[in-house]
Amino acid sequence: MKNISVLGSTGSIGTQTLEVVDQTNDYRISALTAHSNVSLIEQQIRKYKPKLACMTDENAAKDLKVRVADTNVKVLSGIEGVCECAAIDEAEAVVTAIVGIAGLKPTLSAISCGKRIALANKETLVTAGEIVIAEAKRHGSEIIPVDSEHSAIFQSISNQQKFLKRIIITASGGPFFGKSKEELKNITPEMALKHPNWSMGAKITIDSATLVNKGLEIIEAMHLFGLSADNITPIIHRESIVHSMVEFCDSSVIAQMGVPDMKLPISYALSYPERTVPVCDTLDLVKVGTLSFYDVDNETFPAINLAKDAAKKGTIMCSVFNGANEAAVELFLNGKCSFTDITKFIETAMSKAPKIENPSIDDIFMADDFARKIVKECV
Ligand code: NAD
Ligand code: MG
Repeated sequence: MKNISVLGSTGSIGTQTLEVVDQTNDYRISALTAHSNVSLIEQQIRKYKPKLACMTDENAAKDLKVRVADTNVKVLSGIEGVCECAAIDEAEAVVTAIVGIAGLKPTLSAISCGKRIALANKETLVTAGEIVIAEAKRHGSEIIPVDSEHSAIFQSISNQQKFLKRIIITASGGPFFGKSKEELKNITPEMALKHPNWSMGAKITIDSATLVNKGLEIIEAMHLFGLSADNITPIIHRESIVHSMVEFCDSSVIAQMGVPDMKLPISYALSYPERTVPVCDTLDLVKVGTLSFYDVDNETFPAINLAKDAAKKGTIMCSVFNGANEAAVELFLNGKCSFTDITKFIETAMSKAPKIENPSIDDIFMADDFARKIVKECV
């Protein structure tokens, strides 16, 4: 039995992590955190009996304290509380399933204690990749990706990193694959929230529809696997069966496949280098029948090129790319801007980004604030 903490336990990755806990019987829960879903975290506390719990929303924390007063859990609040949960002594591993840059400080907190990071929160590496990787090395903390593509790449590289030439990262193409620029103008949040292959939180579902998600994942992969953006090729794969591929120096290509189910990469990030009992359906390739691949339409979906440009310009530009996207997605979901405005606003924020060499975590949060402000001024 390994002790683990789950940050963002009420979300899509968080709840699937707890399903993995149920299915494998290999883990005990030390701490759980969420933003404001008090009733769900209360149920989770009663079932998994963690020592610590935290709500970032102060009122939700007050409410939770009253609700679980009959249990032994200590309830904390705010982002400092999440950092305390991430650092709890007894846990060996932390699943970072918070959405957005809000996951950065808690992830750094877990890293500073040398814990294994089962990393779902890609925004951590996008905004502060250099600092996070350096800190992980310094504290002997292993970062094992949960993102399905990065888990596939990690599994495919195995111990052959020195022969790695290129990563071929797959993208489903989202619900609007094949649509023209004109057709994208009238996309509503309801349409964009329907992903063909994966069931995920709202923000990442919109990111998948704009292809911003693939841009974020390219930056994430650069940091995890030490390649430049030029050696990471995105391709559209409609069935989401090949989760990604790597090409070695002799042109051999290795892929990892499976049904589209996040429980597999979540489980692997926790059990690595071991493997567990099956946590999802087995892959029946005959039933799938066809695996199809296409080039990305960068003309209609400019997000990947914007991300690659940000990656070339460095940490602050990546934080501006990410912060502008988080703000624009929120506006879109609230009906305050159009679908195609999302990448337009990112581009505007990037064109005004400050230049800071060797940025600190404070600089990164400043760039994030700056980007959000620019996006708000766009509407
Ligand atoms: P979600 O919206 O379903 O859940 C987010 C969780 O974070 C919730 O528990 C919520 O309470 C918490 N949270 C929200 N705002 C917070 C804040 N300001 N401070 C602290 N906690 C906060 O999101 P998700 O789809 O589970 O995604 C989580 C992360 O995993 C994201 O970074 C996403 O990109 C990544 N990811 C998700 C999937 C997926 O299939 N859902 C796949 C790959 C990567
Ligand atoms: Mg992914």
